[in-house]
Amino acid sequence: MSQSNPAGRAIMIAGRELSVTTTVLFALVVLTAVVGVPAYGYFQGYTWLDWTLCLILYFVSALGITVGYHRLISHRSFQCPDWVKAALLVAGGWAFENSALKWGADHGRHHARVDEEEDPYDATKGFWHSHCGWILLKDPHYTEKFTPWLREDRVVMWQHRWYVPIVLSGLALPFVVGFAYGGWMSGVGCFMLAGVGRLFLVLNSTFCINSVCHLWGSQPYSQSNTSRDSWWVSLITCGEGYHNYHHAFQRDYRNGHRWYNFDPSKWLIYNLSLLGLAGNLVRSGSR
Ligand SMILES: [Zn+2]
Ligand SMILES: [Zn+2]
Repeated sequence: MSQSNPAGRAIMIAGRELSVTTTVLFALVVLTAVVGVPAYGYFQGYTWLDWTLCLILYFVSALGITVGYHRLISHRSFQCPDWVKAALLVAGGWAFENSALKWGADHGRHHARVDEEEDPYDATKGFWHSHCGWILLKDPHYTEKFTPWLREDRVVMWQHRWYVPIVLSGLALPFVVGFAYGGWMSGVGCFMLAGVGRLFLVLNSTFCINSVCHLWGSQPYSQSNTSRDSWWVSLITCGEGYHNYHHAFQRDYRNGHRWYNFDPSKWLIYNLSLLGLAGNLVRSGSR
C-alpha cells in the first residue's frame, strides 16, 4: 500500500520511503530493455557482433559480481593481487549493482540477519521484494558493521570513488566497439543489445539468487533459514544457485562444492590459483 507522506514530498511504501532517483534509473533500464531492445531488433536487426559482445559482456559482468563482489570481497573466500581484484571489481561495476563497498555491506548484513527485518532482501516479504523491490526503497538499516574489512581495502575504496565512470564505461564499451566496426547505427545496435539488454539480464540473474533461491529448491545442508539449492539457477548465475550450501558454508570459495556442480565462478577462482593469480582458497564446507 502506498501513500504520500503528509510531512513532505516523500512517497511511502510499506513503511519505507521510495528512492525516486533509483526508481527512475531502474524504470529507464527496464523500459529500454523490454521495449527498446526488441523494437530495435525488429526494425533494424542485430548482427553477429551484437550477439557475441552481449554474450561476452554478460559473463564478464556476471563473473565480476559472483567472483569479485561476492566471493572475493564480501566473503574473503580467496586472496589475489590488487590488479586482479581491480579488474574483477571493474567487471562487477559493469553490472550496475552499486559499488562493491555498498554491495558487500548489504550482502554481509543479508547473511548476518537472514529472514529478519534487517535483511536487505528479506525473502519472507515475498518474491518481488527480495527480487528487486528492496532496491527501490530507502533502507533505514544500512550499516557496514558486518563487513568492517571493506573500508580498509584500498581497491574497494578506489572502485567506490570511481563507480559512476566505471558503470558508464560498461555502457560506452559496446557502443565504441560497434562504432569502430560499422559506424553510428552499428554502435547503437551494440549499445542496445550488449549494453542495456545485457545489463537487464545480469541484473535479473543476480536478483534470482535473492528471490528464487530463498523460495524454491532443496535444503540439504540447513533448514535454519529460507535459503535453497537450485541447480537451474546456477546455469544463469555462474554457479550461485547452490545457495543453501552457501548459507551453511559462506566462506567456501565454491557454491556448488561437488566436482560436477555447474559453478563457473569456482572454476575461474581455481584456474586463477593454478596461474598463481589467486591463493588461500577457503574450503569451509565439504572437501
Ligand atoms: Zn541468501
Ligand atoms: Zn554470500
